[in-house]
Amino acid sequence: MAGPSSDAAGGAAAVDGALLDALTHHVDEAVVAFDADGVITWASPSTRALLGHDPPALVGQNVLDLVHDDDVAGLPEALVRWSGRPGAPRGEVLRIRAAAGGWVPLRYDAVTGPSVTSLGACVVTLRPDGEASSAAAELRARDELDRRLVRLASTFLDRGARPFAAALDAAVADLAGLEWVTRMSVWRTEGDRATCRAQWVAAANAPTRPLPRSLALDGSVGLRRLAAGHEVHLRSTRHLPDDWEVDRDVLLGAGVRSLLAVPFLVGERVTGFVVAEVTLDEVGFDATHLTTLRSAAAIIAAAYEREEVERELDRRARTDALTGLGNRFAFDEALDDALAELAAGRTAGVGVAIVDLDRFKLVNDALGHLAGDRLLADVIARLADATPAGTTVARLGGDELLVLHRDVVDAAEAAGRTDAMLATLTAPFDVDGRPFVLTASGGVAHAVDADVGAVELLRRADVAMYQAKAAGGAHVVVADEVLQAEVGHRLHRETELRTAIDRGDVIAHVQGEFDLATGELVGGEALARWQHHDGELVAAGEFIPLAEECGLVGALGVQVLRQAVRALARWRADGVADGFVLRVNLSAHQLVDDAIVGIVADELAAAPLPPSQLCLELTESAILTDPDRAVRTLTALRELGVGLAVDDFGTGYSSMLYLKRLPITALKIDQAFVAGLPDDPGDAAIVQAVLQLADLLGLTVTAEGVETAAQRDRLVELGCRYAQGFLLGRPESLGDFEQRLAV
Ligand code: C2E
Ligand code: CA
Ligand code: CA
Repeated sequence: MAGPSSDAAGGAAAVDGALLDALTHHVDEAVVAFDADGVITWASPSTRALLGHDPPALVGQNVLDLVHDDDVAGLPEALVRWSGRPGAPRGEVLRIRAAAGGWVPLRYDAVTGPSVTSLGACVVTLRPDGEASSAAAELRARDELDRRLVRLASTFLDRGARPFAAALDAAVADLAGLEWVTRMSVWRTEGDRATCRAQWVAAANAPTRPLPRSLALDGSVGLRRLAAGHEVHLRSTRHLPDDWEVDRDVLLGAGVRSLLAVPFLVGERVTGFVVAEVTLDEVGFDATHLTTLRSAAAIIAAAYEREEVERELDRRARTDALTGLGNRFAFDEALDDALAELAAGRTAGVGVAIVDLDRFKLVNDALGHLAGDRLLADVIARLADATPAGTTVARLGGDELLVLHRDVVDAAEAAGRTDAMLATLTAPFDVDGRPFVLTASGGVAHAVDADVGAVELLRRADVAMYQAKAAGGAHVVVADEVLQAEVGHRLHRETELRTAIDRGDVIAHVQGEFDLATGELVGGEALARWQHHDGELVAAGEFIPLAEECGLVGALGVQVLRQAVRALARWRADGVADGFVLRVNLSAHQLVDDAIVGIVADELAAAPLPPSQLCLELTESAILTDPDRAVRTLTALRELGVGLAVDDFGTGYSSMLYLKRLPITALKIDQAFVAGLPDDPGDAAIVQAVLQLADLLGLTVTAEGVETAAQRDRLVELGCRYAQGFLLGRPESLGDFEQRLAV
């Protein structure tokens, strides 16, 4: 609200517009205040009704600009030259400019002087004058109506803000603001009945009987006319034709004197109607009444249509097309609701289950998607029959289902309910005339505390479901908290490891390899170490399996390879012999990655290092993951000139035959066999067999994990030449290892 402009009299303080607006809200006259220069400082809300002007927009305009030129001369001295003299001039009719153009004749009363200085120099009240007032009144009524309808329409436009029913209530209450109505109701027709959807009843003089919830559309002449799309105008309920007997009795019985009803028409179709009832007096409905109600009916009918379309779209957005079950979206909403109930203490606990049909893919693959879809529909039908109250099934996609148990005390109850549902699947299904036995796996998670959250609950259920699958399927596994914690820890570790690799915190250490006959250092194995930020140096055995699982071992391996190869290149320059062999481990993942050959070649070239000084170690299981591919990759690596060793020999598939197919150059006897030496005859026999086989195939052999002198001596006895182990040398940093080389 703008304050008054500069005031010669100096008396005008800031105008409290809000207070004045409130005080004059229901005043019929327009009230306008202006300063000594005629600049308007405030205009009452009724200015709009009377003249169509937006009151705040008038502020700052000159009041004389609103008065017809011919009438300005007629203004008394006190109004024209605002001397601040006290007074209350009143008098003529002035023609005032209306917002829409044209002139509205209004009679004015004014107050000037000290009593109004806080508002300005003068406060003028303008009111319709006698005969001329009907035009103003009409203008005002039309404006009021327009605004009411705009308000009504916008009630329904702002959908997100409130549900449709609430918007309807608000709309009806607003409509009922028309002074002659004591009850207003909105009805919706369905088949041969109409249901009351919203009503507003005046606090005083309300009809004496409440409205029924629904009405038979053929119950009376009035209703039949409405149902046929006609308006019903009853000026006097006392004077109705004989066949309107039912309407008359009902209406008079409720004290209703007049009634106006307008149907909702969508094309030709009647979808409902709006009814205005009057108890105070008999009312001859005029054009304004009719326009109001007709426009309102049109707006509400359109809103209903839109609501229905939206509801249908909404339904479809939440429904899985194939099964008619709720989809993920609907499930998430239901789960959120259930967790809210739990948080409010209205339930004891919430259970969710993720269910996956075992062997379902088989049907799809073998018999086609149509058969798969039919089977799925049959499964859903059985589950639906077995779904207890308080439980909801939704489809996650494919053959995965989601189950929500809204109120279950503990995980056992959730699992029991899920089990019972899945048990109905055990009887064979009919798939294209053949019996098909289906089972399902379920993972169940339960929460007694809503803080767990929907995402976490589903994640737990998911982990449990995979456990159920991993254990052969056909049963329900409850997510267990220890396991959950492990999973959480693992995820944390995984993130840490990823960062460590990026930051270069994974480094190569080297463990020496010795010639047992001479005690000479003949080579070394690069072993990955994680320099953890908490200061710990983590051994490969503790993070390589994790790196393999989460696909990080390739990136990690390249870093170890690069560091080790470059170190040896430096050491060569310092005089390390050409026969020194650096061993680097390759995991199965790296072996099936076609890029590995190029990577190794590039690193050797960059170091630079002769290929013969590098030997890559692979386990039997890595080779057997994809043997054909392994043979190709190993052949290519061998062609580069690098050596290839089978690591942990004897622990894998122990199939010695495949060794012949592979271009390998060395074997490493697993420490498990060394551990039993010298006393375990079985271990000794194995070591001996491996040595003989290697001899036959022309492979060098290194024994791993030599910890004691007795083990070393026995190995020498058995004819093993090379060895590695804590007895001979622990894995060391590249720097420490370099010292050892210098000695
Ligand atoms: P591995 O290739 O069999 O390596 C030998 C493991 O035995 C090393 O464990 C080593 O520290 C340990 N060791 C050496 N001498 C002795 C001994 O006398 N007694 C005992 N008890 N242990 C001994 P580490 O470093 O924890 O490595 C474990 C495994 O992780 C390695 O087994 C290898 O398979 C893998 N690995 C290590 N570094 C890498 C790498 O850079 N890339 C890949 N893909 N795998 C790696
Ligand atoms: Ca190794
Ligand atoms: Ca090994």
